[in-house]
Amino acid sequence: MSAKPESDYDVIVCGGGAGGIGAALGAAQAGARVLLVEKYGFLGGAATTSNVLAYCGFFQQGPDPIKAVGGVADLVLDELRRLGLDCAPFCSPTTQNWIILLEPEAVKLALDRVLAAHGVTVLLHTRVAAATRTAERLQSVTLAGMDGRRRVVAESFIDATGDANLSLIAGLPCRTGNDMGHLQAVSGPIRVGGLDTSVPIDRTAIIEAFREYNKTGAYPTAREDGGIFTQVPRTGDMWWMMYDHALPDLSSESFTRAEQAARAAAQDYVEVLRNRVPGFENAYLSQTGPQIGIRESRHPAARYELTGEDLLTGRQRPDGVAKAAWPIEDHAVAGKPVYRPIGGDGYADIPLDCLRAKGLDNLYFAGRTIGADAAAYASIRVMGTAFATGEAAGRAAARNAA
Ligand SMILES: Cc1cc2nc3c(=O)[nH]c(=O)nc-3n(C[C@H](O)[C@H](O)[C@H](O)COP(=O)(O)OP(=O)(O)OC[C@H]3O[C@@H](n4cnc5c(N)ncnc54)[C@H](O)[C@@H]3O)c2cc1C
Repeated sequence: MSAKPESDYDVIVCGGGAGGIGAALGAAQAGARVLLVEKYGFLGGAATTSNVLAYCGFFQQGPDPIKAVGGVADLVLDELRRLGLDCAPFCSPTTQNWIILLEPEAVKLALDRVLAAHGVTVLLHTRVAAATRTAERLQSVTLAGMDGRRRVVAESFIDATGDANLSLIAGLPCRTGNDMGHLQAVSGPIRVGGLDTSVPIDRTAIIEAFREYNKTGAYPTAREDGGIFTQVPRTGDMWWMMYDHALPDLSSESFTRAEQAARAAAQDYVEVLRNRVPGFENAYLSQTGPQIGIRESRHPAARYELTGEDLLTGRQRPDGVAKAAWPIEDHAVAGKPVYRPIGGDGYADIPLDCLRAKGLDNLYFAGRTIGADAAAYASIRVMGTAFATGEAAGRAAARNAA
């Protein structure tokens, strides 16, 4: 396949997170000429922008890790293995779910390499800023980079921006949060360095230390269980998710408050560890994410919204193009996640219509932009599932462009 004479590319993918990577690789494997545009200077989405250092959704839940996602995601895992990560299924002691532990520098490099090997053109430091369309089709996007703006034409487009930024500028109706406009909490996962790795991490001591801190501390945590923690592969750092923050709306003011509070809380929390938890006497804050972790923002109008019922019953269907296998993990209340298992055979099919924009023939969704109600969204947003919906969107977009 080659771009039609009037088009610069067959498929333009907006956003370089798991959804966008899956989409770009899926479209490239289907023979499309693909451009991927990412506003940061590196790929990876939440894994590299927000310290989300585990791929969830690759496996069904249960005593053994049964694979739910393969395809182009396996190319990424293979590249990570070449860089020294073992990528073996790891059962989280906190949630009993199967995950793959990540180290962000390996993720960045692996994604650069795998996209290059598949001939995908990548533009970093470039934001999708505007779009032109007819009533039924997107025609072009305007890219804003260091050197100004340029208009790029393609046959198909994929919104993998997480926050539905392409859909928004294309004038597609979007819902914010759930039906009531309520957003899942944001969180600030951090890395803690300098701990004595010969001392097992004492969850009870952490719980006790934060019970004390919460009495007078400036940033009381709603997590009463010591938070979720693991070791960052290839390092002695602890990955720790302990700070959650209710997000009232999508205003810049609210995001500014959330970012600033998360930063200050991170300093306080590491000091609490240092002063009160054995093994952390020399601990320091190694890293906050480049930005806070945003679980939910806008949902663009799709042709079908996957429902919580689809997941709870493990609904399988002939038009399924990807599997949702991660439990419904609802963060409606900050610091109090609620998990509900997938029913049936342990996964539900995601139909192609979840990946298609309502009313626009050549706009597709990948990752957390796909059509889903509030309950289903709390499952499908994880990165393993995002690779799978991305791959399916990429293949469909390439077919549409042919
Ligand atoms: C605190 C927290 C913890 C989580 N824990 C886990 C976990 O342990 N495991 C897991 O699998 N999932 C987890 N998730 C969910 C998961 O990280 C996200 O839902 C997932 O990253 C979605 O992938 P995506 O590709 O759709 O979006 P994102 O990862 O958000 O990627 C979107 C990309 O698009 C780019 N972008 C946005 N707008 C533009 C634009 N206009 N132009 C160009 N580029 C743009 C962004 O910079 C970003 O790189 C967590 C989320 C949070 C917030």
